[in-house]
Amino acid sequence: MIRAIVGANWGDEGKGKLTDVLAEHSDLVVRFQGGANAGHTIINQFGKFALHLLPSGIFHPEVQNVIGPGVALDPEALFQELDSLKDRGVPAPRLTVSDRAQVLMDFHILLDTLEEERLGGRKFGSTKSGIAPFYSDKYAKVGIQACQLTDRELLRERLRNSLEKKNVLMEHLYRHEKLDADALTEKYYALGQRLKPYLADTSLLLDEAVKAGRDILLEGQLGALRDPDHGIYPYVTSSSPLAGYAAVGAGLPPWAIHEVIAVTKAYSSSVGAGVFPTQLFGQEAEELRRRGGDAGEYGAKTGRPRDVGWFDAVATRHGCLVQGATAVAMTNLDVMGYLDEIPVCAAYELDGQTIGHFPVTQDLRRVKPVYVTLPGWKTDIRGETDYSRLPRQCREYVETVERLIKTPITLLSTGPRREEICRRG
Ligand code: GDP
Repeated sequence: MIRAIVGANWGDEGKGKLTDVLAEHSDLVVRFQGGANAGHTIINQFGKFALHLLPSGIFHPEVQNVIGPGVALDPEALFQELDSLKDRGVPAPRLTVSDRAQVLMDFHILLDTLEEERLGGRKFGSTKSGIAPFYSDKYAKVGIQACQLTDRELLRERLRNSLEKKNVLMEHLYRHEKLDADALTEKYYALGQRLKPYLADTSLLLDEAVKAGRDILLEGQLGALRDPDHGIYPYVTSSSPLAGYAAVGAGLPPWAIHEVIAVTKAYSSSVGAGVFPTQLFGQEAEELRRRGGDAGEYGAKTGRPRDVGWFDAVATRHGCLVQGATAVAMTNLDVMGYLDEIPVCAAYELDGQTIGHFPVTQDLRRVKPVYVTLPGWKTDIRGETDYSRLPRQCREYVETVERLIKTPITLLSTGPRREEICRRG
């Protein structure tokens, strides 16, 4: 069985917890896109972790974790994460990194930071992890593959080539000191030596796993609305977080993916810039933000307060559609237990017309949510594992959302911990 776990919304839907839960029954867990720019929160017997680059299967010693060629591989971030797991008593994980994955360099982070500063009020809300400059280099064909870190002279040549244009920008646009290809060669050659034991052709490894009928979990980062083709461009990320891209970014045949689980929260949240029709403000937002997630809604990567709002069925239906979702997992259902009634955005109003589709960004800015209001359940359901024992109003909420998003909700998360999960259908 090959499954993808992906986000249906703006990111931070709780994919990390779901992946950790489902990793237990998987032989391999694969990251296929993005880099250390997102954070999955995982709470298990070792403690609480915010994973940025490592696949969420690393807490299961028997799981083979894979970083595919589509990932932005920051070797320093990778080793920091591996070291911090070791320090906290997590057994050494099984990890293989694609030798074709490209390397996110420290100058990508610098360029990202300088560019966000230059843009000022027009910025995109980047996490300043270097993702946009990294993917720009990749597609401009001046990127550096992980395998190239182990050949010092090839690395020097690639770096010189890559830095030629960047140093013009450094000097004349950003007024920053120029980058030194020789110093970078030594730094990344040394990191390459440490990386070497992890490198392999991961497509071969996955091909063998597919042929042997292994269970593979493809772990997405961010969410459908951040997809550069199908999302809220330009407030998107620079690689595709869609299940369709998982085949490419991991290195698997597209027909091999059987199940696409799109994750959504019982409410909406978004970190970073963008358009968010159901966003709440003031007191109502404060309360939901404070109660959301495991310790309030603050970005796992940046600590930034997340914007929060009511569940948006239009955005989520679009997310499920472009993900090709076969099932939905709804997280944070327990958070809603304090509300007397709960609005759900069932449609948008655009220029006086009611619409059911998710429009392009310039129109999305003008939509007004059309809400249906459902009764709350005013009960603490944290940790409930049996769907039939959930309060009637809570089941009604789930079933109404299910009808609106046109995708079966098969998993409900009732708390941040691994065991707080309810299976349905
Ligand atoms: P990801 O990037 O999609 O993995 O999402 P994050 O981990 O960044 O954000 C999800 C937040 O919700 C984290 O704080 C999780 O610990 C928390 N979380 C996940 N599922 C649940 C749940 O069912 N209930 C509660 N209360 N918190 C949850």
